[in-house]
Amino acid sequence: MDPRLLEAARSAKGFMPDDEGRALHDAALAASLSVGGPLLEIGTYCGKSAVYLGAAARAAGTIVFTVDHHRGSEENQSGWEHHDTEVVDPLTGRMDTLPYFRRVIEGAELEDVVVALIGYSVPIASAWQTPLAFLFIDGGHALDVAMADFEGWAKFVPVGGTLAIHDVFEHESEGGQAPFEVYRRALAEGFEDLNSVGSLRTLVRSS
Ligand code: SAH
Ligand code: MG
Repeated sequence: MDPRLLEAARSAKGFMPDDEGRALHDAALAASLSVGGPLLEIGTYCGKSAVYLGAAARAAGTIVFTVDHHRGSEENQSGWEHHDTEVVDPLTGRMDTLPYFRRVIEGAELEDVVVALIGYSVPIASAWQTPLAFLFIDGGHALDVAMADFEGWAKFVPVGGTLAIHDVFEHESEGGQAPFEVYRRALAEGFEDLNSVGSLRTLVRSS
C-alpha cells in the first residue's frame, strides 16, 4: 500500500487496527482486479477504513462509496464504550463525524476516489442498482441493524465478488455477536471463507 496513504489511515480516528486495514486493502484490491464494479463500505465514521479502501480503489482505477448518517451507532453514543466526546457537535449535542471524515479524505488526497453517501444504509440500498466488486459491512452492531445491512446490500455482490465483515467475534466474551451472526448467515447464503485477520472476515460469493 502507498506509504503516504498508509500513514493517513494510521493517523485517522477510528476503529480499524492496521493489520486488519491492510488485509481490507489487499482483499479490496484483489476483488477489484477480478470482478467489475465499485467498492462500497457501510460505516464510514471518520474515514479510517475508507482510506485503506480508497488506496485499493485508486490502485484498481475504481471508486469506493462509503455510507454513514454520521450520527454514530448505539455503541458510539455518550455513556457507551466507544464514545469520543470530540465528535459531538457542540451546537446540537449530537454526534457528527462528517467534518472529521472530510479532513481525513482531504489530507489523504482521496477526494476523487472516496464518495460519501450521507444517510441511513437501508433506504440507500433500496435505491441502489450497481453490482459491487467488494462490500464491507462495518455499520451498526445491533443485530437488526447489522442483518438489515446484509439483507439490503449482499445481493449486489456478484459471483466472484467479495464480502468483508468487521468485528466478527466467535465468543461473546470477545465482543458483540451480531457481526458473527451476519457472517454465519453469509456462509449459509452463497458465500465462502476467503481469509481472516483479527476480527475481519472476508468471503467470496460462490453462488
Ligand atoms: N469503519 C469505521 C468504523 C465504523 S463505526 C472505521 O474504520 O473507523 C460504525 C459507523 O456506522 C458509525 O459511524 C455509525 O454512524 C454508522 N451507522 C450505524 N448504523 C447505521 C445505519 N443504519 N446507516 C448508516 N450508518 C450507520
Ligand atoms: Mg468495526
